[in-house]
Parts: sequence; C-alpha cells; structure tokens
Amino acid sequence: MTTTAVVGGGLGGLAAALFLARRGHSVTLLERDPAPPPATVDAVPGWARRGTPQAGQSHAFVALCRQLLAAEAPDVLAAVRDAGAEEIDLCAAPPATLTTPPAPDPDLVVLAVRRSVFEWALRRVVQAEPGVTLRAGVAVTGLVCVDGPVPVVRGVHLDDGSAVTAETVVDAGGRRSMVPSWLAECGASVPDEVVVPCGIAYCSRFFRRRSGASPAPLNRGYVAGGSFDRYSCLAFPADNGTFSVTFGILPEDRDMRALHDGAAFLAAARAVPVVSEWLDPDDAEPISSVATMRGLENRFRSLVERGRPVALGVLAAGDSACITNPAHTRGSTLAIASALAVARAVDAHDDAESRALAVDAELRRSGEPWFWDSVDQDASRLSRWRPDEAVRSGGRTTVSNAEANLGAQRDPVVWHAFTRAQQLLELPSAVLDDPDIVARTRAVVAGDWRPPALPAPSHDDLVAIAGGAVPAPALGRTG
Ligand SMILES: Cc1cc2nc3c(=O)[nH]c(=O)nc-3n(C[C@H](O)[C@H](O)[C@H](O)COP(=O)(O)OP(=O)(O)OC[C@H]3O[C@@H](n4cnc5c(N)ncnc54)[C@H](O)[C@@H]3O)c2cc1C
Repeated sequence: MTTTAVVGGGLGGLAAALFLARRGHSVTLLERDPAPPPATVDAVPGWARRGTPQAGQSHAFVALCRQLLAAEAPDVLAAVRDAGAEEIDLCAAPPATLTTPPAPDPDLVVLAVRRSVFEWALRRVVQAEPGVTLRAGVAVTGLVCVDGPVPVVRGVHLDDGSAVTAETVVDAGGRRSMVPSWLAECGASVPDEVVVPCGIAYCSRFFRRRSGASPAPLNRGYVAGGSFDRYSCLAFPADNGTFSVTFGILPEDRDMRALHDGAAFLAAARAVPVVSEWLDPDDAEPISSVATMRGLENRFRSLVERGRPVALGVLAAGDSACITNPAHTRGSTLAIASALAVARAVDAHDDAESRALAVDAELRRSGEPWFWDSVDQDASRLSRWRPDEAVRSGGRTTVSNAEANLGAQRDPVVWHAFTRAQQLLELPSAVLDDPDIVARTRAVVAGDWRPPALPAPSHDDLVAIAGGAVPAPALGRTG
C-alpha cells in the first residue's frame, strides 16, 4: 500500500484516485473548487466548476471510454447510464454512402452525455470509495521537495498553509496545471513538451428537446453536422433529452464572433440544414447561454528526459500530460486511460524511477500517437480553412487521415477499421499503415467517387445571418 496525493479532481484525477484505491492504495484527492456535487442530476447545470470551463462545451465519450469503464469500474458505467447517458451504436447507423453495410462490432458504442453529468456520476462513486479522501475547496500551491541531483517530491503544499505528505504525487491539474512550474522551482529540469496550436475556437450552446427523441440521423456517427467553409457546425446528442450545438471557427475570425450572442447563434445554427433539424422552435429550448473557448492547443508533455525522470515521486495524467484538439472528442478518454496507466505503474513497481519510466512508456505508446494524429487532422483542416498558409499534413502514416476518411465513407472495411481508430480502440498506425486498409483506401482515393457535399451557408452568408439576428448594440454580448 502506498500513499498518493492527486492534484485536481477533474476526470483524470477522479479516475486516478479510483483506480489507485481499488488496487489497495491510500489516496488524498485535492480539488480547488469548493462546491460539492449536487444531490440530483437535474441540479448539475448549476454546479460551480470554475476549474473546468470546458464543461460548458460539447463533449462525447468515445468507445474506449466505455470499454475502460466496463473493465475497470463497471459501477461508474452504471452510474453514468443511470444519470441519463445515451449509448450510440455506431454500427447501427453507418454512412449511407457505404457500398455495403459494415459488420457489427459491439465495441463501437459512444457515450452521449454532458461532461458535467459524466463527472458528477464519477465523482459520487469516488467520494464513496473507502480508500479515497476527497478534499474540495483546497488549492495545491506547491510541491514538497527534497533537493538532490534529481529532486524527490514528497507531497504538496496547500493554500491553508498545511501540507499533505505522500509517496507519489499525481499531477491531474488539467491544461493549466502549475505542477511543471513547481517542479522547476524544485530544481528539476523543465519537462519536455511539444505544442501545436489547434487553429480553432469553440462556441457552444446547450438545448433540451421536450420530445426527448433524436430528430434526425447522426450523419457523422455520434454527431450531426460537418466541416464547411471556414467553420464547422455539429450537434451532439447527450443525456436526458439534452443536446448541444458547437460552432468551430478560426480563432482570428472576428466576423464569426457575432455567434457569441444567443440569438445570432440560434439563427446561424438553424441555417445549417443538417443541424437545423435539431432546432425545431416547437421542441428545442436553449438551456444555456453561448460559451466560448479559445487558446486551444495540442500538447504532449513528458516528465522523462533522455530516459531519466526530471523528478522522482511525481507522475502526470490527463490534460497535464497530453492534450488533443477537442474536435476529435478524445481528451476525457485519454485522461481516464492515462489515469489507469498511473495506477498500474504505482501498483506494479516499488520504486519511483520505475514508476515514472513505466508511465512515460505507456504515454508514449498509447497517448503520443493521438497527439500527432490530432496535429495531422488539424493541418488537413487548416489547409482548407487557411488556404494561403503553408500547413503540411500527413507523412507519419502510409495513408493520411484525410485519405482514410474518404475511404471510410465508401468501403465498409475501411469504415470499420478507421472508426475503431477514431474511437481509440486501435492505434493510428495499426489502421493507416495496414496493407489491406492502405490498398482499399488508395482504391477509393484513385477512383471517381466523391461524397455528395452537405448543403450549408458559405462563411460570409453565415456571418450575415448571424449579424442580422443581433441588434447592433448587442453584438458581442453573450446571451
Ligand atoms: C472546448 C473543449 C471541448 C472538449 N470536448 C471533448 C469531447 O467531446 N470529448 C472528450 O473526451 N474530451 C473533450 N475535451 C477534453 C476534456 O474536457 C479534457 O481532456 C478532460 O477534462 C481532461 O481531464 P483532466 O482531469 O486532465 O483535467 P480537468 O478535467 O480540466 O480537471 C483539472 C482539475 O484540476 C483542478 N485544479 C487545477 N489546479 C489545481 C490546484 N492547484 N489545486 C487543486 N486543484 C486544481 C481544477 O479545478 C480541475 O477540477 C474538450 C475540451 C475542450 C477545451
């Protein structure tokens, strides 16, 4: 049995605490936000979670998430279902353009649920876990370190002046985690990181359909919508009759900021035919204002440099270790997978160096490829959205994501393999370098067939529609 302090009680921190406790370890989970989870799921939208602003954005939980929960924490999966999550079988509604239906695959099931509701269900299970002491309303302010050629972390300092001593500290502080800076203050070399901006900003709004039912087929598996002329628009089904709509726009696109206004957002979303079906005025009511998020980046960070840990006694999980473009809907699942890697390493090894190396090896094997995959997909999109900018995509695999995506709309074998990769059930190279998938993809790419274009307003028409819905003085206001 070891003692562990986990910094941050978001998805990665909660999962790490649970997986460690269920392996017999004692965990103190420290979350800065004070508010406890509400008693009922209906009250979740009012749960004050300043530390996770992304909760105001659309989320989907890819198939690996459900698979990990089923194997490691079936009670969490049951709690998420009880909280109202929908399960979307991707084989039940494959693309209509496939030449034949794909074979069924019971693994290809996505959880459709708001992030806040998913976290609420997970947190309630973790709170009841005997090996976890969850302390909310305490901020970690630094690391307890012992100097040496390689600093040794022995716990964390808290904002009330106290400290928590632990054999291992898990950094689950999310995308803005301070742990790397605190490590530098302890004399550790700066963790190695690669950062590539996503080149996208998000505007999302949540709705509830009084009828509860999905109005239209999900043309992209678990979402409805598409990527158009310098913007994307997607509807995400979620729990309890709710759904969200997200516009992805270029961060520098000031004209599209009209979407920050609630009326403009609604008018613009209703102008995109494949999404407008969700927004029947007699059925769909807004349940949130428009939430925006910018400054998004892909980032991969390692706490091991040239084969040696930068410090001993500290491990990272979740966004602190690896961030991918949210558009690919993978961050939460990667956070849970990395939390599992941390728990397994702590459990399997008795010394801090072996634990750090084991976590790093797993992160590089099963996390880093998704970082590069996200960078590749972003480059492919940006070559269309910023045609004047030289962005290079592809090159890491035999066929690119863009090519496989085309193949996956025509060839059922490519669809199946590509969808398994998109859902994190296979590594990108297992699909994009597979000789059969490569040959099938190239056959589609070389042929004449192309998918019919989805109707949607041009960028400038959408700006005009959004702008026309806002009284001039209200432009830029959220509502
Ligand atoms: C716009 C957007 C859309 C997204 N959509 C999807 C999606 O569709 N599917 C998907 O899987 N993922 C999506 N993600 C990613 C997903 O939300 C994150 O990957 C996931 O929340 C990461 O979990 P985490 O535990 O690492 O960090 P977080 O969930 O952000 O949690 C970090 C926690 O640490 C706490 N904390 C930070 N510092 C301290 C401190 N010093 N002391 C104590 N506590 C601290 C914070 O309060 C917070 O609770 C999206 C992200 C964004 C930005």
